[in-house]
Amino acid sequence: LDFALTERHATFLRQLRSFLSRPEVRRFETRDESAALEAEGDRAFFRMLYDAGYQGYGWPEEYGGHGGSAIEQWLYLEELSYRHLPRGDLTLSSVGPALIRFGTAEQKQRYLPRILTGEYDFAVGYSEPEAGSDLASLQTTAVREGDTYLVNGQKVYITSAHYASHIWLAARTSAELPRHRGISVLIVPVDAPGVTVREQRTQADGLTNEIFLDDVRVPVGNRVGEENDGWAVITSALDLERNFPYSGVARDFELLLAVCAEERDSRQLLNDDAVVDELVTLAADVEAARLLTMRVARLVDEGTPATAASSMSKVWVSELRERMTSAALSHLGDRAQLAVGEAEAPGGGVFEHIYRWSPMMKIGGGVNEVQRDVIARRGLGLTRGSR
Ligand SMILES: Cc1cc2nc3c(=O)[nH]c(=O)nc-3n(C[C@H](O)[C@H](O)[C@H](O)COP(=O)(O)OP(=O)(O)OC[C@H]3O[C@@H](n4cnc5c(N)ncnc54)[C@H](O)[C@@H]3O)c2cc1C
Repeated sequence: LDFALTERHATFLRQLRSFLSRPEVRRFETRDESAALEAEGDRAFFRMLYDAGYQGYGWPEEYGGHGGSAIEQWLYLEELSYRHLPRGDLTLSSVGPALIRFGTAEQKQRYLPRILTGEYDFAVGYSEPEAGSDLASLQTTAVREGDTYLVNGQKVYITSAHYASHIWLAARTSAELPRHRGISVLIVPVDAPGVTVREQRTQADGLTNEIFLDDVRVPVGNRVGEENDGWAVITSALDLERNFPYSGVARDFELLLAVCAEERDSRQLLNDDAVVDELVTLAADVEAARLLTMRVARLVDEGTPATAASSMSKVWVSELRERMTSAALSHLGDRAQLAVGEAEAPGGGVFEHIYRWSPMMKIGGGVNEVQRDVIARRGLGLTRGSR
């Protein structure tokens, strides 16, 4: 694989950086990456990106994009991630492309332009109390009654449902077919009668949500793909969801280095060989994260399946974040445990916060144990082990 940026990519990046440095954009920058994800509901920000021609840059022109390459789309998301700006990842990178691939002409016309302008954003409704890693065991039902489905069930850990306009919902449409074959994907407006969203607070003080669906009527025209064929839609969308940006970690690492170099109490760390060794290893690992995430984009541009490569980058980036914040908390002393807002907290308390946030990134998008299984089977061609 060629990891060099072409002249075209370099020009795109220069222009993008210049745009993102404007004060009217910078006012949307947040404290850290988790805060940026929480702020994703800021529709005014996405409208501004759209007006500047950047939203959906990698989407085909016929759907309002610019026909840009996956590398340009990757550069774009990484730049937002580095600056702790909202990204709208799930809607733009996962739901939108899945709609482009599986949606009807009418669905594309209805949803895609509004996704780009920031009017619509999606929460992804897969997980349930008894269905996480084993998603095919999901129990939410959608029973066909004429032109509508009657939907009943419960979802858990649904990121962004507290501000999203729609739910990209996985529901069982056949009890008779084998588990994977009886599932369909439905688009459900969050404000549809019978939908209740209840916030769940995470250990990092963030929000995710439970969703209760009680006799919710969903038009058959809101089904994406064929009835009972939702597994193909879900797996395609999940492949795209897992290529987490690495730049947020890179930025946190830069902050850690700056704190080590600048703070009086921390400066002596740089005389400790063991600490320096660890920092050097982390620097190499951040670069590996850049290459792993870029490789996914390269493969997409080549038309080569990127499932295993996506899982690799997800495992690497999420675990690197945890190692990096662990190193910060181990070496910066007791003060590193001070939270955001505490005057004495090194790095403004970001390390303490990210330390609580980082374990969740090993779970969201599918737990890392399952990703390792995907890498073994799809990447290395190994056979499934007995459990
Ligand atoms: C930050 C965050 C955001 C999320 N956002 C969403 C969202 O927007 N939409 C959504 O639908 N869901 C979301 N989820 C839910 C997430 O997809 C599930 O939590 C995840 O798939 C794991 O499911 P589970 O919690 O039921 O754990 P389980 O599947 O019960 O797994 C528990 C543990 O068992 C082990 N395990 C399970 N299966 C295997 C296996 N096959 N091999 C080896 N070990 C295994 C692992 O150690 C795993 O950590 C989010 C979760 C988090 C933390």
